[in-house]
Amino acid sequence: MPVLFGIPLIGWIQMLLGSALVLFVLIKFLLRPKKKKTAGYLIRDVHVIIGDGSELFHQNVLIKDEVIQKISSEPVEDAAVTVIDGSGLTLMPGLIDAHVHIQGGFSCRSEEESDVFLQKKIPQIFREGVLPYGITTIKDLDAPKHFIYKLRRKLKSGEILGPELRIVGPNFTAPDGHPASTLGSNSPWARAEMAIEVSGPEQVSAGIRELKQAGVDFLKFTYQGGDYWYFDEKRIIRKIEKALMQQIIREGKENGLLATAHVFYYDDVKELLEAGIYGIEHGILDRDLEPDDPIIALWKQSGARFVPTVNAMTYEKDSARLVHSLHNLKVLYDAGIPIAMGTDNMLESMTGAIEHRELAYYVEAGLSPMQAIVLATKNSAEYLGVADRKGLVNEGMDADLILLEKDPGTDISNIQFIDKVFLKGRIVFSQKAISSYAIPDYAYPSEVSQLRYRRADGTETRCVDISGYAEQAEITQTLLKDDAPWSEEIFHVAGDLSCTDWHYSRPSDQTELLARKDGDYIKLSGTFKGKAQDKTFKIGDGLWYQMMEMAMPAFIASEEKQIVFYSIGTGNNRGAMGLGEFSAEKAGEETITVNGRSYDCVKIAVVLTAFSWAWTGFYWYDKKSGQLVQTGEKGKNADKNGYRLSEIL
Ligand SMILES: [Zn+2]
Repeated sequence: MPVLFGIPLIGWIQMLLGSALVLFVLIKFLLRPKKKKTAGYLIRDVHVIIGDGSELFHQNVLIKDEVIQKISSEPVEDAAVTVIDGSGLTLMPGLIDAHVHIQGGFSCRSEEESDVFLQKKIPQIFREGVLPYGITTIKDLDAPKHFIYKLRRKLKSGEILGPELRIVGPNFTAPDGHPASTLGSNSPWARAEMAIEVSGPEQVSAGIRELKQAGVDFLKFTYQGGDYWYFDEKRIIRKIEKALMQQIIREGKENGLLATAHVFYYDDVKELLEAGIYGIEHGILDRDLEPDDPIIALWKQSGARFVPTVNAMTYEKDSARLVHSLHNLKVLYDAGIPIAMGTDNMLESMTGAIEHRELAYYVEAGLSPMQAIVLATKNSAEYLGVADRKGLVNEGMDADLILLEKDPGTDISNIQFIDKVFLKGRIVFSQKAISSYAIPDYAYPSEVSQLRYRRADGTETRCVDISGYAEQAEITQTLLKDDAPWSEEIFHVAGDLSCTDWHYSRPSDQTELLARKDGDYIKLSGTFKGKAQDKTFKIGDGLWYQMMEMAMPAFIASEEKQIVFYSIGTGNNRGAMGLGEFSAEKAGEETITVNGRSYDCVKIAVVLTAFSWAWTGFYWYDKKSGQLVQTGEKGKNADKNGYRLSEIL
């Protein structure tokens, strides 16, 4: 071994390698990616709804490093943060929904499909349908297990931006129980992923072991048997045996997992309470409770919590369930039963408008708006075991916050006027300023008094009367179904063809509506399918194109390539009685021939902005007169659903 300066060569080599390693680590450290710190926000002079039923006025709220650092009526200074003027605005905790179905087995029939859904759809659902509605924490029930475990990992790592997630994993049920034979009937894969069908104690123990290993937050099982309406189909479901129900609750507790139960009937609720259930989901829907019913004392004593899911009862075949749900919510609330907000929202096809509607139902049941808010914030956080971090606007809590233009504590429908949503201190939604456009005044040709359009399959005719346009800025539209009048609409419009008021009548299902533009808002009143309506939508300087197709000629005449406009939904879908946001775009020119006559047309493509992937409508307008010539849509029903100009009078 050669030796240099008394040190063997191997020693030199070791020293050299050692210093190289130190140098390498040092360089790595110096060049490490700097973690970008969000500097934070200071919301000045804001009204604060705490979440526990109390409120504070003229507060300065400092948000930094994911949490609420300071709340004070004294001036707060921090040069590093962005200041938001909160005067006239209300700040409240993010909404917490304790009963959500992110994936009900409808869109996915295999793990591969579910992976695609997770990568492609989920980020969009959270970005467009959840966070903009102020929903910052959810508990998912029985989504396919591999899907939900993967989603939880991606949310934790930050790969997907979304609400904080609690899960229960698959749902214990009897063989052929719900959701095995209901949601799980869409595919064998979904069935095995969503339900653990148990008929003996070993299966229960094995299931609990599996879920404990998977690290779920709670257990859930179904305790309902008999008739079950799965959409329009009546199915018979089996109820889990009583002894197994008791075992799930007991063994769950021994393993640190509290159990919640899907339940509809009085007798079943009673057995669950006696067995020490943690959470009752849905509730007693087969009768109205009297305040002195013995089950209430039992309930109080058991300490069980309650998640009402009132809005879900609006989809039930038996309309009495909604009535019982509303009645019993108030009785249980007055008795001091701890209640958390849950909606049964199916996020595959619905948005956070459901959570807002659920809150409105709590008020309809007899709670004050502030009491309803407590259910959806403090109480839900307690129910989900996250009350140390969520559910209140307090110093040290996670900065999951909603900043609103109007105060939902005085009128719960103000929950729709969300300006910003913060998720752990980061702004994840900010209300777009409503765009205003330079749309020129437009006049329909005075020689035409009526335009008729016939649906391609011959079932419907639309008669648009513009004879009152020149004199009174009035347009009427009558829809004939199989040649019998079905609905009538009268519009009054401004020069740019945006609506100033709208009267809609559809006697067949007791629909009679009046909407009127009033400053920055549209006020809607009347009845929709027999149910009273009283709503306000913010519109600002935006375009209200209620008679969408007939308003486009003004847009076509403008320099704008694309516009966003608003329209109130009247159909049989979830957008009914809500203000839909649409986008219209000029999509080139085409020659269209109808009734043997050719028209050089401008083609307009329209999408509902929150569901741009789901539907695109096409409209062709005669370049010369501006009149509508033909409509159609993208996809399978393109030919069937289109209308064509059939007569000009
Ligand atoms: Zn549910």
